[in-house]
Amino acid sequence: MIYLLDVAKIVTIPLIPKALGLPRAICYSGLHFGPCKIRYSEEKRNTFLLFFSRLFVTLLQNCKMKTLLTILATIMMMTMCNGQPAQEPVVRPATQADRFYTADAGELSDEVDSLLALHRGAAADSGVAALIVPHASYYFSGNVAAAAYMTVPRDKAYKRIFLLGPSHHEWLDGASVNTEADYYATPLGKVRVDRETVMALAGADSVFSYQPRAHDREHCLEVQLPFLQRFFALYAASAKDVPPIVPIVISTNDYGKLRRMAEVLRPYLTEENLFIVSSDFSHYPSYEDACTVDARTGRAVESGDAARFIAVMEANARSGVRNLATSACGGQAIATLLMMTDGTYRVKHLLYQNSGDAPDHDRLRVVGYHAFAVVRGAAAFTLSDDEKRLLKQIALTSIKDSLDGKPVAHLSSLNAHLLEKCGAFVSLHRQGRLRGCIGHFGEDMPLHEAVAAMARAAAFEDPRFMPLTRDELADIDIEISVLTPMRRIHSLDEFELHRHGIYMRRGNRSGTFLPQVADEVDWTKEELVGHCARDKAHIGWDGWRDAELYVYEAIVF
Ligand SMILES: [Zn+2]
Repeated sequence: MIYLLDVAKIVTIPLIPKALGLPRAICYSGLHFGPCKIRYSEEKRNTFLLFFSRLFVTLLQNCKMKTLLTILATIMMMTMCNGQPAQEPVVRPATQADRFYTADAGELSDEVDSLLALHRGAAADSGVAALIVPHASYYFSGNVAAAAYMTVPRDKAYKRIFLLGPSHHEWLDGASVNTEADYYATPLGKVRVDRETVMALAGADSVFSYQPRAHDREHCLEVQLPFLQRFFALYAASAKDVPPIVPIVISTNDYGKLRRMAEVLRPYLTEENLFIVSSDFSHYPSYEDACTVDARTGRAVESGDAARFIAVMEANARSGVRNLATSACGGQAIATLLMMTDGTYRVKHLLYQNSGDAPDHDRLRVVGYHAFAVVRGAAAFTLSDDEKRLLKQIALTSIKDSLDGKPVAHLSSLNAHLLEKCGAFVSLHRQGRLRGCIGHFGEDMPLHEAVAAMARAAAFEDPRFMPLTRDELADIDIEISVLTPMRRIHSLDEFELHRHGIYMRRGNRSGTFLPQVADEVDWTKEELVGHCARDKAHIGWDGWRDAELYVYEAIVF
């Protein structure tokens, strides 16, 4: 049997020993006071009753202020004796409704539904293990948050969802996990807390504690709940309820503590759980500065490398960018996630906006918002014959539309692979001879857009040829090389000559060799990366040894 005791009624007790000169231990033994409800078992309740009986007697024997203390002690006794078995669950109320989102349930669900619908064509990926999402008011960051939620696979029955974010109001020097609440409420209903897991975390390492005040006013986890509620209600294939949550807020400058948190949390990073890390990015620089700083921080997140992310955060702090208060308020939570994934997961960038993109918002002081999906297993990227045919069609249509003076067509309802961000080269041949070839190396646009843009560039912008004419179009052959998403490697053993292209980056220098380079030369792996380092990235023959190395493949059709 579990009882609830409203400690507001006895919160005056800690004052008693001071007034009476009684040993503090008397008043504190077996009890923990705080401005909250205390859970206690039947056994504890008996201990409390015994304790208060003793206190009552002690007070009567020792006290000069007998009358006052008798009344106090009587109130306490009554509180305890009247304690009814409490079936009522503890619900953390929606403290941020009407601040970060509307408290009107109808309006809220309409707003979230329409934000999610904007990303209906997003590629849901069965390997999604974690999301990084913003937490500003929906007006500013709802669109970016929705882009992340819509990558969650719809057919997966998650056992629990971990919510990690910064503690904006309380300094914890660690993490606080909410061991008190049974539910988190929003205007759309209640979401259950996975009490078993929160208790397990609280007992796993002293770096996890429970500090009620850190959760009371905190918005960064609460604002995620309506997205989860509507996503599961509308899109989940089976369960329509949000899986139980594990709410954790973090504030510490001690990376050793973040590493301890990561160690405790890593065993939970399995197929059955989803992690959601709540963070905004640069705070308060100008629009232009935010775009620059956030792009830098975003690339560090995408690298999946916790040390690099921390180094970039620190470099940003030293950079002297005007009005830059932080480059990620949830930086500690992101670092914890990256320590858990340890470079073995692929971090996909989904969308960036900042508050200056909202209608009528000034661009002098903005906050940046990124969405990322952290994907397990980085499955081999392939294209089906239908997808290849569709890409060729997209290339041809793009050239035709350009000849007709039309802009690039906007395509919707594309499948996952065509929305992957990868590089592409488009080559045009006419009567067996090259008629233009332009490529885009980089993962900053979806594949279908890269193909449409490179087809136009190959037709009209290759400086070696005159722009293509309408008459030539009938005998043009299109060849497309799709560069698969890059994968970080830590040893040349993972690099396969002829199959992989190599990309290296050190500081702001980078260089690459396409896979087919190996077909044209007679170099060993070491020689090939040496040439790439010296001749392409300009970091010296051995510069690749301390550069980040990535591999990719080319699919030619
Ligand atoms: Zn924040």
